[in-house]
Amino acid sequence: MTGAAAPRPRAGIVVTGTEVLTGIVSDANGPWVSARLGELGIDVESILVVGDRPDDLRAALEHLTALGLDLIVTSGGLGPTADDLTAEVVARHAGRELRLDSAMEERIAGILAEFARRFETDREALAAANRKQAMVPEGALALDPAGTAPGLVVPPRDEGPLTVVLPGPPRELQAMWPAALEAPAVRELLDRTPERGVETLRIFGAPESEIAKTLREAESEGLELTELEITTCLRRAELEIVVAYPASARPRYEALEERIATEYGRRLFSRDGSTIDEQVAGLLTGRRIGLGESCSAGLLAARLADRPGSSEYLMGGVVAYSNAAKSEHLGVPEELIAEHGAVSPPVAAAMAEGARERFGGDLGVGITGVAGPGGGTEAKPVGYVCICATAGGERRVERDPVLPGDRATIRDRSTTVALHMLRSLLASHPG
Ligand code: ATP
Ligand code: MG
Repeated sequence: MTGAAAPRPRAGIVVTGTEVLTGIVSDANGPWVSARLGELGIDVESILVVGDRPDDLRAALEHLTALGLDLIVTSGGLGPTADDLTAEVVARHAGRELRLDSAMEERIAGILAEFARRFETDREALAAANRKQAMVPEGALALDPAGTAPGLVVPPRDEGPLTVVLPGPPRELQAMWPAALEAPAVRELLDRTPERGVETLRIFGAPESEIAKTLREAESEGLELTELEITTCLRRAELEIVVAYPASARPRYEALEERIATEYGRRLFSRDGSTIDEQVAGLLTGRRIGLGESCSAGLLAARLADRPGSSEYLMGGVVAYSNAAKSEHLGVPEELIAEHGAVSPPVAAAMAEGARERFGGDLGVGITGVAGPGGGTEAKPVGYVCICATAGGERRVERDPVLPGDRATIRDRSTTVALHMLRSLLASHPG
């Protein structure tokens, strides 16, 4: 057991790639690695993005080294092409020579032979690429390739951080991560990382300012919050509270969780880190659902289908954008639309009922709203969304909030509201 006084290791991340720097590709690796390191109890102090230029990568490594960090993780630039320079620059920074690792060369040759069988390739270029990717800094550990390039774990020659070099394609980087954690030098770092708990609470239907107030009041009433690292953020219309704490401060975390549970009641819908998507998926087991979507135009269907196994309960959905489509494909009476307007609670209810019936479901959801930026009126402003979740007959939940945000945010939030309505419908009508 490590004492509370042991400091947590500090890390930095360098993401390489001109395509990431210029914004053509958005960085999937920095945030992913940062989240994994955070879970392990390692403090990430900075994520740097640099282009495929050796001087820029070197400057980034020097900057992070000057901060006195324990660990640097790099992504990208491990491939066979001329702009893939990471291994070389990292080796020089760590004061280590690159050497040809013949065992690795053979392993890569095996991978490339498979590649060459499937595609027309220039054998000479392939051999050169092979050799380049098998260059390993002396004293470093090579990690088996997830694509064609090996990763590296490079200890400093003297002072300085341990450097873990990973490939750029996110799928390859993530595939290599477990092996990187098994590397002895990384294990050694993890072994001296003090134990830490991380919990996530999720609240629906409360603004961010409210939780700030709760925390202030809790503290002034004597709840001890020091040692708890509390991050709150608004995400897809939900409030997410992440609390990290040293193992010894677990009772403080529990007191805080109780305090939040008392104050927010049913609005605190997740205390175990589960998402609304996971919860609804669980509740839908053994049932069938059909969807009728206007302004969200399939986003709810896509969200449900994101989960493996959704074919068990997701029967189908209709994107009914026009009034004619609402009538023809969901059976919404034309007179209902004429009387109340396409964006109205009765039309949302008729869409939900129509979707339930037409897909032979136990449940139906209807969503219709004004996503903007045009089309708003005083009575029905941009963001006005009518949603109905039905289990047939009177068993239904209806809401018509005015959702804040731009077009994309309003459309996305309407699906979050719909999922929460489904959750309460399923919770109040189990079986
Ligand atoms: P390869 O052998 O595929 O060249 P590599 O390690 O050299 O591997 P890069 O050349 O840096 O990787 O990147 C290859 C591709 O992977 C990029 O074109 C991009 O599509 C994707 N990629 C790289 N870095 C990132 C990142 N940080 N976020 C998202 N995608 C990335
Ligand atoms: Mg590359």
